[in-house]
Amino acid sequence: MLAWDQCASSFNNSPVVDQLERVAGRWVCQALGLPAQSAVGFGTSATACTLTCIAAARRKLLAEQGWDFDGDGLTGAPALRVVLSETAHVTVKKALRVLGFGMNQLIYAPVDERGRIDPARLPPLDARSLLILQAGEVNSGEFDPFAELIPRARAAGAWVHVDGAFGLWARASSSAHLAAGIEQADSWTCDGHKWLNTPYDSAMAICRDASALAAAMNSDAAYAMASAHAQTNLTLEFSRRARGVAIWAALANLGRDGLRRMIDRHIRQARLLADALSAGGYQVLNQVPLNQVLVRADSDAQTDAIREAVQGSGEAWFGPTRWQGRPAFRLSVSSWRTTDEDIQALAELLLRLKRQSGA
Ligand SMILES: *Cc1c(COP(=O)(O)O)cnc(C)c1O
Repeated sequence: MLAWDQCASSFNNSPVVDQLERVAGRWVCQALGLPAQSAVGFGTSATACTLTCIAAARRKLLAEQGWDFDGDGLTGAPALRVVLSETAHVTVKKALRVLGFGMNQLIYAPVDERGRIDPARLPPLDARSLLILQAGEVNSGEFDPFAELIPRARAAGAWVHVDGAFGLWARASSSAHLAAGIEQADSWTCDGHKWLNTPYDSAMAICRDASALAAAMNSDAAYAMASAHAQTNLTLEFSRRARGVAIWAALANLGRDGLRRMIDRHIRQARLLADALSAGGYQVLNQVPLNQVLVRADSDAQTDAIREAVQGSGEAWFGPTRWQGRPAFRLSVSSWRTTDEDIQALAELLLRLKRQSGA
């Protein structure tokens, strides 16, 4: 097709993609209950999108301190304080590191036993602070207490970014209350390629102050001037494929109800799995608020042996993790294809392996 596979960087290069991605951006904000005026950059990954949001945050925070980041860069710039969860995802640290925030300079906010930032122990924030929260802790599926933390951060003049790679989709479900108050943040990262089930290379950088993202990501050249909402000015890429169209298609296909039903079903299936496993003698380590089930067998050796046996069985696959210093496995329910029968079969497999390894 002549109209397809153009460079989808701006309206001039690909009018149809520009329009579809603008619609997709609006739908994403509606489905997630985020401010309608937000810019939505369709990037390759939550990693890249977190990087672009943090770049926008830094540029804006420094501008408010009277510092011209584009002109003068980092040397001599006012120091920013980055406060993030003790259990922040490794890719958030990667984004920070790539942007020049030293790992020894980060300030960690202590979490409670469920992996949520404890508001009573939140480090001090000011107008030079970037606070990074999470929707969906990678092991426990828990949410930081946004309604309490974000107003405090904003009152102090800090920028609040939320890593919601998978957990932000809770906002489109009947469990939206888990992320109450999240809409008050300044920027959010969300993946399409996890819970929305779009093909890989599909994520979103969502920024309340559209001009902050557009300014940080601007790549206008004499031969390629684009508007502030052009994807080339909202993402790292200059040339790009029509990345957001898969998100448009998934949302058009599911609709708001279909999206809610899919997320609700996975949350229900995660609980089903957790109940079957704890009835069968496993230790379920999290409260299963979302689609993650964090599990341990009787000993660390048995936990590892069972996980390896499942991986070798060809019937299911899940990875190892560590929770509070000890091995566990992390079952994540997120495929649109997963049925209750699949969940039952997985539970039976795990119970059988536990009986065998206990014998
Ligand atoms: C997967 C994940 C990321 C990274 O997302 P990519 O799209 O793989 O870069 C960041 N944060 C959380 C909580 C995740 O689960």
